Amino acid sequence: MDGAAAETLFERIIAGEIPADVVHQDEATFAFRDINPQARVHVLVVPRKRYRNVAELAAADPGLLADLLRSCRTVAGLEGIEETGYRVVFNTDADAGQTVFHVHAHVLGGEQLGLFGS
Ligand code: C5P
Repeated sequence: MDGAAAETLFERIIAGEIPADVVHQDEATFAFRDINPQARVHVLVVPRKRYRNVAELAAADPGLLADLLRSCRTVAGLEGIEETGYRVVFNTDADAGQTVFHVHAHVLGGEQLGLFGS
């Protein structure tokens, strides 16, 4: 984590400075609906503590990564898609199209999802 970098958009959402449709929160993580949903269910799950991407999170704090994945499952349960299936996506840096450099899992589901790639 780069403590010197400017606050990210997601830190401002977690702090309540920017409104969001919150789905779940706990001590370590925060989940809210994506403002531009790519599926019927599209929720972003973020750790309260900022890491640039999932690779940095995994290297620095695997326990927090496990917390994040547990929250994805909780969100799937709350959204009623645990049985039908869902996708968890971590866009990681430029070629993946990551735009917010505060690691976040996209939880997508609620419909038959297409294949992904380019
Ligand atoms: O993986 P990536 O960094 O591209 O994802 C960022 C996501 O944050 C986008 O899906 C975008 O729609 C979402 N977003 C949001 N609320 C904002 C700004 C961006 O949900 N205020």
